[in-house]
Amino acid sequence: MPTDVCNHVKVVVRVRPFNKNEKALDTRKVVHVVDHHMLTFDPKENQELSFGAHKVQTRGLRRANKDLKFVFDNVFGEDSTQVEVFENTTKAVLEGFMSGFNCTVFAYGATGAGKTHTMMGSAEDPGVMYRTMREMFTLMDQVKEEKDFDIAFSYLEVYNEQIRDLMANVGPLAVREDDSQKVVVQGLSLHRPTCADDIVKALDYGNRNRTQHPTEMNATSSRSHAVFQIYLKQKDKTASPNPYIWEAKMSLIDLAGLESNAVADQAKGPGKCQQESATINRSLLTLWAVLNGLADRRDSKLTRLLKDSLGGNCRTVMIANVSPSSRMYDDTHNTLKYADRAKQIKSSLKSNVLNLNSHVSQYAVICEKQQAEIVKL
Ligand code: ADP
Ligand code: MG
Repeated sequence: MPTDVCNHVKVVVRVRPFNKNEKALDTRKVVHVVDHHMLTFDPKENQELSFGAHKVQTRGLRRANKDLKFVFDNVFGEDSTQVEVFENTTKAVLEGFMSGFNCTVFAYGATGAGKTHTMMGSAEDPGVMYRTMREMFTLMDQVKEEKDFDIAFSYLEVYNEQIRDLMANVGPLAVREDDSQKVVVQGLSLHRPTCADDIVKALDYGNRNRTQHPTEMNATSSRSHAVFQIYLKQKDKTASPNPYIWEAKMSLIDLAGLESNAVADQAKGPGKCQQESATINRSLLTLWAVLNGLADRRDSKLTRLLKDSLGGNCRTVMIANVSPSSRMYDDTHNTLKYADRAKQIKSSLKSNVLNLNSHVSQYAVICEKQQAEIVKL
């Protein structure tokens, strides 16, 4: 039976390779991965560390941020693989999820820093979301003699403070808390997968419904937060006549870009981009407030949605994505500072275990509610 534990938010940083643009502009390398746990931001000038060292930009030299050392739970360098990132992030929390702990893994960083690549990846090289689903089904298969599973998922986006169901392609939807303080998105469709491939197909389908907006940084990047949630209930058949029921929610989140308005607004979308940037930055700030336990001081759709999925009773992994190039100097510095502060956040975990005998009526009500909402794929 799972026990309660105290846990820190796990914070990892992934540095992507230079992109074509950054190479073409001969930009300077401002992130140097020292080892699996340490990186240096804006390292002292050094021929080996600098990219295009002969074109050192004066901008960086004027800064007071030279040679800042950061230590994280993991640092993934430019040549890190999707498998490595998965094995050191979501894979580590899957075990907890399977024991009834809520878990959240989210990618954070500026547009173009590699969030979607890390979370979704491509068909040839899938990211964290796909690998997590495959692994989850493998784990369920290994214990199918002892446990009964009931699994459902939903996929939504938060765009300009509005929630849209990416599977049913409808919105805006309202978010509220039910009598037991569970976050409920009204009318959100729930889907029942029979295998990992069902989820993979659903993610592909949902991604096509994401609100896309071209930006200067990355023509196909999204200005929306994509939130994929898996609800898992399990019954331990071997514990009869007193079987326990675990239920847990895992949220896998591809956040919209955190960037200075100046950068985002180069997208030249008159008025609209500015409004979007302001909204995105506001919801990321409130996300930050939730992580720091200040949720009630601010409000936004994203934080209301994630109230039971961040900090508190939840295992949280933050994947901070950064570019190594001086072109994104301020964004990278901000992302690293946020990531550094996130290390301080502690959460007190409690697994969502119900004793079948004492809670049977409650469980039946939950099941009934969910059954009513479940839509067959
Ligand atoms: P974001 O979602 O943060 O806006 P993306 O994930 O879309 O950024 O990444 C921007 C571009 O960089 C994409 O073309 C993506 O394929 C590429 N990219 C990002 N991270 C990596 C990586 N670790 N290795 C190779 N290419 C990457
Ligand atoms: Mg993206």
